[in-house]
Amino acid sequence: MQHEALLATWLQTASSVVAFTGAGISTESGIPDFRSPQGIWAKSKPVYFHEFLTSPAARHEYWRQKSISHVDFAGAQPNDGHRALADWEASGRLRGVITQNIDGLHQTAGSRKVLELHGTAREVSCLSCCRRWPADPWVQRFLQTEKVPDCPDCGGLLKHATISFGQSLDAAVLEESFRMSRECDLFLALGSSLVVHPAAALPEIAKQQGARLVIINREPTPLDGLADLVLRETIGPVLKRVPV
Ligand code: NAD
Repeated sequence: MQHEALLATWLQTASSVVAFTGAGISTESGIPDFRSPQGIWAKSKPVYFHEFLTSPAARHEYWRQKSISHVDFAGAQPNDGHRALADWEASGRLRGVITQNIDGLHQTAGSRKVLELHGTAREVSCLSCCRRWPADPWVQRFLQTEKVPDCPDCGGLLKHATISFGQSLDAAVLEESFRMSRECDLFLALGSSLVVHPAAALPEIAKQQGARLVIINREPTPLDGLADLVLRETIGPVLKRVPV
């Protein structure tokens, strides 16, 4: 409880608190992360963006993998970690969430300010005309037909509205994430291995600008030495116990 009390004091006295979340905050909702032994990459190899653009076989593999993870996402509900962050935002303690996750569970929990660095798996978008649709009907169609869909408007390639390896991040989302990290005085890094860049640079930027850095992650991260508090624990139960 000592650590939770300290975290509560820091939350109450900070003037701008930012939470940065990774796949680890959603494992308690039943969504596997990437790098744990049970993670997604233990089972399949990611499709790179240039492969998606150039190879019909790679596009099929992409849609196959996305259809499997869609089933995980569709059935998932927010957990105590997502709910605590939404509550803290509602009570004015948290400025917002910067997330690497694509599952949309922060918004389902009630968070309003959510910057999705890697986009969202809840939608698909056309790479040519940029029109977007909810992902579910397209995934259902792929599961029934095994046919990779094209944009019904312009015939362009349809892809989930997520950032694939080799694809650029959204510059506006990234810029706002850097700004929030520079301006905060308490930065909470929750459930991220902190190895994917540029996202993993955000805690360092916050720290360089004088913020306190708290890391909650079951496994060690490369930034543990920089942190003011490191909890190698499970996120949901810890956040639920924070007495704010
Ligand atoms: P990661 O898989 O690299 O790291 C997750 C970390 O969380 C691990 O170090 C693990 O030990 C820890 N962890 C797992 N469950 C935890 C829990 N309940 N409490 C505390 N710690 C826990 O994830 P990452 O750093 O977010 O980077 C991977 C990339 O994966 C991201 O870019 C993201 O887009 C993508 N991804 C997203 C989802 C999702 O949306 N839910 C799922 C898998 C991967």
